[in-house]
Amino acid sequence: MEHIYDVIIIGGGPGGYTAALYTARAGLDMLLLEKLSAGGQMALTSQIDNYPGFENGVDGFELAEKMQAGAERFGAKTELAEVYSVKLEGKIKEIDTSEGVFYGKTVVISTGASPRELGLEKEQQLVGRGVNYCAACDGMFYRGKTVVVVGGGNSAAADAMLLSRICEKVIIVHRRDTLRATKIYHEPLMQAENVEFCWDSVLTELQYDDKFTGVRLKNVKTGEETDLPCDGVFISVGRKPVTEFLAGQLELDQAGYILADESTRTNLAGVFAVGDVRTKVLRQVVTAVADGAMASHYIDEYLAEQM
Ligand code: NAP
Repeated sequence: MEHIYDVIIIGGGPGGYTAALYTARAGLDMLLLEKLSAGGQMALTSQIDNYPGFENGVDGFELAEKMQAGAERFGAKTELAEVYSVKLEGKIKEIDTSEGVFYGKTVVISTGASPRELGLEKEQQLVGRGVNYCAACDGMFYRGKTVVVVGGGNSAAADAMLLSRICEKVIIVHRRDTLRATKIYHEPLMQAENVEFCWDSVLTELQYDDKFTGVRLKNVKTGEETDLPCDGVFISVGRKPVTEFLAGQLELDQAGYILADESTRTNLAGVFAVGDVRTKVLRQVVTAVADGAMASHYIDEYLAEQM
């Protein structure tokens, strides 16, 4: 007989580890599946200021380790495994992974979102050779150099702030004439001596010979094209939800996020979506952890109904 868990959690970000903490602490037989290490996108953020309880902010990787350890204190188990596919419709859900098939009465999907690409020619081949998606991970390779940051949201602004402390020059390229990022970023960026803005512009080309040499820009208002030499580009234009492995088994919105409200319940009974992967207004660590707690509440309710 195969072992059937009460709860299988897919993804070890803040939402996943909060669901792990709550369900393990409630005495449920649970397993969390994680591909690499705890934290998800949060672990790539060097300074998190808007998660309460840390008066000086906290490193995302450190917070992830604390979340995992906090769940393990109550017996939460983690298996390092990549999920290939799932069967979610029956009463017993099947999760096919690199480490074999796991079975659960309920499933929590907390796979988060990964960086969105621009879709430029050779973008994928140049990753790590001039093209980057994570300033906290790869910024140090551009010490004393000139980099372009693409995007105008909170991630682009936070990346530009971080890079301005490492690089000689940071040029923010944004397709509008103002940042979408929250106001707290505007002034420090405007005042930083080594940060420049290139408004109303998009990248049309990544330039390289034997190494990365720069980008070609197009002004969206005038149509004018210019070359901008630089040592690297950090693409920070939002995220796309990690839902491919669901293969159409759950209802998604147009952008691919799992349709679920604050209850975290999806269209399938016993399947819950928490954190950045579900439809929501504000994607933050605090809202992801709130989801993890809500999921455990509705898991309890669902399991009680099944008895
Ligand atoms: P975001 O808020 O969706 O911003 C994406 C930015 O990229 C926008 O400025 C958008 O331009 C631009 N963009 C999108 N597609 C583009 C394309 N093809 N070419 C050029 N530009 C493009 O995404 P995010 O900044 O990654 O943030 C994701 C979520 O995490 C948000 O909810 C954010 O608030 C949260 N976050 C919060 C913090 C914080 O609170 N400190 C830090 C990081 C992330 P338009 O403005 O024209 O749409």
